[in-house]
Amino acid sequence: MRFADLVEVYERLEATTKRLEMIGALTDLLRRVPSNVIRRVVYLTQGDLAPGFRNVKMGLAEKMVIRALAFATGLPRADVETRWKELGDMGTVAERALEARTQRKLTSAPLTVEKVHDNLLGIAQAAGTGSQEEKIRLLADLLNDATPVEARYILRVVVGKMRLGVADMTIVDALARAFATKEDKPAVERAYNVSSDLGGVAEILAESGLSGFRDIHLRVGVPVRSMLAERLPSLEQVVEKLGRSALEFKYDGLRIQAHIDPDEIVLYSRRFDVLTSQFPDVVEGLRDAFRAESAILDGEAVPIDMNTGAFLPFQEVAHRRRKYGVQEAIQRIPVALMAFDCLALNGEDLLERPYTDRRAALERALRETERVRLAEQIVTDDLEEARRFFEKVIEQGGEGLMAKGLASPYEAGSRGWQWIKYKRDYKAELADTVDLVIVGSFAGRGRRAGTYGALLMAAYDPEDDAFKTVCKLGSGFDDATLFALPKRLQDLHQDQKDPRVDSQLEADDWFEPAVVLEVLGAEITLSPMHTAGFGAIRPDAGLAVRFPRFTGRWRDDKGPREATSVAEIISLYRSQLKQIS
Ligand code: ATP
Repeated sequence: MRFADLVEVYERLEATTKRLEMIGALTDLLRRVPSNVIRRVVYLTQGDLAPGFRNVKMGLAEKMVIRALAFATGLPRADVETRWKELGDMGTVAERALEARTQRKLTSAPLTVEKVHDNLLGIAQAAGTGSQEEKIRLLADLLNDATPVEARYILRVVVGKMRLGVADMTIVDALARAFATKEDKPAVERAYNVSSDLGGVAEILAESGLSGFRDIHLRVGVPVRSMLAERLPSLEQVVEKLGRSALEFKYDGLRIQAHIDPDEIVLYSRRFDVLTSQFPDVVEGLRDAFRAESAILDGEAVPIDMNTGAFLPFQEVAHRRRKYGVQEAIQRIPVALMAFDCLALNGEDLLERPYTDRRAALERALRETERVRLAEQIVTDDLEEARRFFEKVIEQGGEGLMAKGLASPYEAGSRGWQWIKYKRDYKAELADTVDLVIVGSFAGRGRRAGTYGALLMAAYDPEDDAFKTVCKLGSGFDDATLFALPKRLQDLHQDQKDPRVDSQLEADDWFEPAVVLEVLGAEITLSPMHTAGFGAIRPDAGLAVRFPRFTGRWRDDKGPREATSVAEIISLYRSQLKQIS
C-alpha cells in the first residue's frame, strides 16, 4: 500500500476536530487497506509500531534526529535545530526542509506503508555498536524517498508526537463500522481490552470479521487493560448503590498486573510499562506465595515499614530505578503486593465470572505471606459496619475503600459502577507536634536487628492517671539514636506492662512510663486498636496519630504526666473536623 494514500487520510484527520468526521475518514480508510497491511496502518495511526505493551521505543536522541534530517536534506544541523525550536514540531521542520531540499538520490521510489514501518522498526530495534549510525541511515533512506508531507508524519512517529487527535476509541468505532456495524462497537472494544492490541484486532476483523474474536483469549504475558472505578462522595451512597457488596481496603500504591507462568513472572503497570526489574522483591514474593500453574493477577504494590508493619506513602519507593539502587532500596523499604483480583488461573479466562468466583480463585492461587497478601475485605450492606471498616483503613494508612459488586465481571478497560471508590475527602496536617510517652517497644528486624523496630507511645489521661496508647513510632530516628535506645531505656525496663499503661497491643518489651518524645503526625484518626480517647468520639474506637515521626527532640524537660493529654488528642481530632466543614 502506498504511504501517500495513508498520509492523505492523516491530513484530513488533522484538519478536523469533529469526531464523526474522523470516524468517517478512518472507516473509509480501513475498508480499503489490504488485510496484510492493516495491522501496520493501525499502529502508525496510533503513532506506534507495535502494541504498546511491547514497549518498542525509537531510541533516537534529539541530536540524532537532527543529524539525520540534516544529512537527508543537506541543511546545516544548526538550522534544523533552530527551526525545531521555532516551529515546535519536528514533522513540520522536516516537511519544510524537504520542500527546499537540494540533494536527492536519483533512485528515489514511492514509499509504501510496509517500507516505512520496516525502516522505523529497524530504527527501534538497532542495538549495540554502530546502532546510532544504522538508525540514521534507515531514517535518511526513508527521507530520501519521502515527499514533504510524508516526511511530516514519518518524523512525528520518530519523535512520538503524531498530533492526529485520534483516540484509541475512535479507531475502535471505525473498525466496528468498517467490518461489522456501529452497534458492534462493544464487541470490538472488548477484544481490544483483552488483547491490548488494536492492530491485531483490526487484522482479525479484516480477515474473518466478528467471528474471528472467538480466538481472542487472555494470554499470560499479554497485559489486559485495567478495570477502573467510579467514585461517590459518601458511604451512604456507596451502600445504597451496590447494596450487599465487598468492601476492600484501598491501598495507596502502584497498580500492578502480574503475569505468572512456570518460567517467568512479568509485572506491568497500568500503562503497560514493564516493572519487573524495578520490583524484584514483588517477583520474589510472588514466586514464594504462588501455588498454581499460571495466572494473571491484579493488585497494588505498597511500601511497608518492616518494623511497624505499617503502610508507607508511595513516594518512599517512587524513585526506585531500574538496576541502580534497587537492591539497596529493597533492603531499606520493601514493597508488598496486595492482590485484589484474578483475571486468569491455570489457563482459564475468568473475566466474565462474578467477583466472588474471582476472589475465590485468588485465594486458591496464593498462600498469604508477608510480601504477598490478599486485599483485606468485608462483605456487608450495613452502613455502620462499613464505617467501622473505613476508619480502620484510614488508621492503617490506607486511602479509603473500594466497593465491588459481588456479581460483577472484570470489565477490562472500563470505568463503571461495579467498582466504586470512596476516599477520605479531606487531608489535614497536624499543625502542632505532640509529646508522647514511651511505654513499650517492638523488636527490630532487618537493619534494625538488635534494637527496636518501633516504640509504643501513649498520651496521658489525668482522669484515671493512665497512659493510653496512640501510635507505634518507628520513623524519624537516625541510626545513632536508634542503636543507643536499648541502653537509654534499660533502667526503665519492666517484666510486665506497667499497671498505669492502658494498651490493647502486646508489646515485646514494656517500660515504666518516663521518657517523653516530640512527635509529628499527619493527623488524628479513629482507631479500634489504640486506647486514647476510647469511646469519646465513637463507642468502639479510640484515637491514633497517623504517620507519626520523631522530630529528634527528647522532651527531657517534661515528666510523663506533662505529656500531651488524652483530652488534647480528642480536641485535635475535633478541630480537624472543623477545618474541613
Ligand atoms: P483511577 O485509577 O480511577 O483513574 P487514580 O489513578 O487517581 O484514578 P485512585 O482514584 O486513587 O486512582 O483509585 C483507583 C486505584 O486504586 C486503582 O487503579 C488501583 O491502583 C488502586 N487500588 C488500591 N486498592 C485497590 C483495591 N482493593 N481494588 C482496586 N483498586 C485498588
